[in-house]
Amino acid sequence: MAKRKSSRPHKRTSHIFLSPRLKAQLRQGHPWVYRDAVERAPAGLPSGAWVRVQSANQQAVGLWDASGAIAVRIFSATTIPDAAWVKARVREAWERRAFLRSPESATTAYRWLYGESDGLPGIVVDLYGDEEDRRWAVIKSYSASLERVRKWVTDALASFTSLTGVVDRSGEGWAMLAGAPPPNEIIIRENGLRFAVDILHGQKTGFFLDQRDNRATVGRWSPGKRVLNLFSYTGGFSVYAARAGASQVVSVDSAPAAMTAARRNFHLNDLDPTGHEFIVADAFEQLEKYHGEGRRFDLIIVDPPSFARTKSQLPQAIKAYRRLNALAMRCLAPNGLLAASSCTAQVSPERFRALLADAAADAKRRFIIQHEAGQPPDHPVAAHFPEARYLKFLLGQVTERA
Ligand code: SAH
Repeated sequence: MAKRKSSRPHKRTSHIFLSPRLKAQLRQGHPWVYRDAVERAPAGLPSGAWVRVQSANQQAVGLWDASGAIAVRIFSATTIPDAAWVKARVREAWERRAFLRSPESATTAYRWLYGESDGLPGIVVDLYGDEEDRRWAVIKSYSASLERVRKWVTDALASFTSLTGVVDRSGEGWAMLAGAPPPNEIIIRENGLRFAVDILHGQKTGFFLDQRDNRATVGRWSPGKRVLNLFSYTGGFSVYAARAGASQVVSVDSAPAAMTAARRNFHLNDLDPTGHEFIVADAFEQLEKYHGEGRRFDLIIVDPPSFARTKSQLPQAIKAYRRLNALAMRCLAPNGLLAASSCTAQVSPERFRALLADAAADAKRRFIIQHEAGQPPDHPVAAHFPEARYLKFLLGQVTERA
């Protein structure tokens, strides 16, 4: 009996027609197509279907999402991805981070795959190695439509390094995709320092890997200083400051578990927590209190959580950053240092600088930026996807107005 055509694995790929205004971004390789840019699509197309998109004379291949703001995630200019294609992207991302695996970097935890910037939109993988030479990969994927791609990524990971387990932290909890789960605490190394990480329950995928280089910067500016680390989480900046010879480090976070972990991280780096302070409090209230008491610091780190997830929250967020940093500036000794960070992609670096100038004026000060940074090289920003740049970090002196 002749084989029926429909039983063949290659179904016809659907075609989607986009507004011609997307032509230039499609040509550059921008990975997002918002739903309002879709002019024509077949009815009832299921999430996770590969589609060929067209804007004017420009074409590309992407993954359809039936719900959500992003209708298509673009993967390739020409090719419908398969397992081998995905593995090639994972390999490129692996090689892009080779410098982090040199012994001199003394770092065992980093972002292996940063979604759009590494050519796999909507999927992030962090790698955590511990002192017993065990390694866990932690995956976050940002839409159910990515399921098949996520599976190919999971399969590819183990061919580049031996993995003890692969954890999925896409949803609320966690699930194992392969191997054995990590214990509640593993010890990673970052720039030679030791940190306890809870991969299954910690914030993000367990550790704020994106502040690695900025923590090292703070270390360099800390010797002899009275340091206040606001929104300290597990004491990342605090450990760098104390190890570099800060005279005192005060860590503040509203989460009690973060403070317990911060003390633990001091111990892990042979630092005596006595003489330092670990305070569970609201950072705004704590600053008001210090200001009222006349207590001053030589270096204050301000690294709050994102204050704006969407554009509509932006005005509120800018107000909060401004108030917070003005308060911090008032608690600095004359010519003290402010290290101000923002992880809100909605706030551009220009906007952040401008709001800090306003904050300084509110505090009757001036902010002289001496160091400006963003994300470390394991969080790359593709030139055609500027949205990947979210982290701002500015450090400099806060002076009296002349
Ligand atoms: N600087 C940290 C990461 C900070 S993440 C690092 O390098 O690892 C932001 C932290 O702010 C979280 O730990 C959260 O618990 C804390 N937080 C959120 N709102 C807060 C508030 N109002 N006051 C104090 N801490 C707060």
